[in-house]
Amino acid sequence: MRPLIELTEKELEALAAEYSQPPFRAKQLGGYILKGTEISDMTSLPKAFREALENAGAVTLSVRVEKTFESAADGTRKYLFALGDGNIVEGVLMRYSYGNTLCVSTQVGCAMGCRFCASTLEGKIRDLTASEMLSMVAAADRDNARDGKRGVTNVVLMGSGEPLDNYAQVVAFLRRLCSDKGLGISRRNVSLSTCGLCEKIRALAGEDCAPVLTVSLHAPDDDIRRTIMPIANRYTVKEVVDAAEYYFKKTSRRVIFEYSLIRGVNDTKDCARKLSALLRGFPCHVNLIRLNRVPERGLEGSDAHTVKVFSDELTRLGTSNTVRRTLGSDIDGACGQLRRRYLSDGGSCRD
Ligand code: SAH
Repeated sequence: MRPLIELTEKELEALAAEYSQPPFRAKQLGGYILKGTEISDMTSLPKAFREALENAGAVTLSVRVEKTFESAADGTRKYLFALGDGNIVEGVLMRYSYGNTLCVSTQVGCAMGCRFCASTLEGKIRDLTASEMLSMVAAADRDNARDGKRGVTNVVLMGSGEPLDNYAQVVAFLRRLCSDKGLGISRRNVSLSTCGLCEKIRALAGEDCAPVLTVSLHAPDDDIRRTIMPIANRYTVKEVVDAAEYYFKKTSRRVIFEYSLIRGVNDTKDCARKLSALLRGFPCHVNLIRLNRVPERGLEGSDAHTVKVFSDELTRLGTSNTVRRTLGSDIDGACGQLRRRYLSDGGSCRD
């Protein structure tokens, strides 16, 4: 039997009928499924129905937690989720004072080819479905719920994959994620990160589920961006910033630009000045992060002093910015790194 989360309302009704249950049981079942509840905990359903479903091999979610790793340093928990077809994707749960943020993958692999990113080394294997993405959130929520508190309060689409290259499934996922009937996560607590597919950014601005937008810029001009991000051959930095500005105007949500500092590539004071000029007049925010070293890529993060000089220069020029901490670096926190190590170790992930 397919995981229940993948069934439509009509299919749930048919399932209930198969077990001689009235249609309202299908509605109850649907409510539980959206919350990721296990069948044995669906206590408002008749026990006989629950047992019959379990005996038929029914499961709620379409992913299984294959392995978890917990960072000793900061409590960041990394998940390897197994999909129905045997593929493995990552999710990372980060703990903050305001709640727990789950970083979700949107594709197995990625087609974007960014030179510093481990997710894209073998290209895109396939898109994830909305049900698979929702299943990851529900599984992590269940795993981290404590004392009646939600296990996941915030979601960021920043795992492996380019969310806007899987637009229809990502939008379907966002709708279900934010639905009152389901996990009911506020869209203010959901962020989507993109390398900047401009038409899709504009389309997303018109969706009722439009989340907070984060744009991976990583360069102040086209020449530098082309050396690290192939997508820069399709859109100029000006086009990317224009699309982000359109998103801001349409949704009234402040856009964030991600800028990973890479030693000797994009980290000079001159780069900071160019970046500030590019963003002038646009009330946005820049997140600076030291590149997490990916050995396969031969690129290094900038040192702490260079990061500070870059940040100070932006601040001096009036560009709002913060230097982000790197969480979970002891457990391969950066995109795609854990999955790669897991697969290359033949599924054991030795430490
Ligand atoms: N495809 C989307 C989302 C996935 S990547 C995007 O491009 O935004 C999430 C963020 O991690 C992006 O900003 C990406 O550029 C960044 N990233 C990827 N590899 C990294 C690394 N090794 N160190 C630091 N940031 C990295």
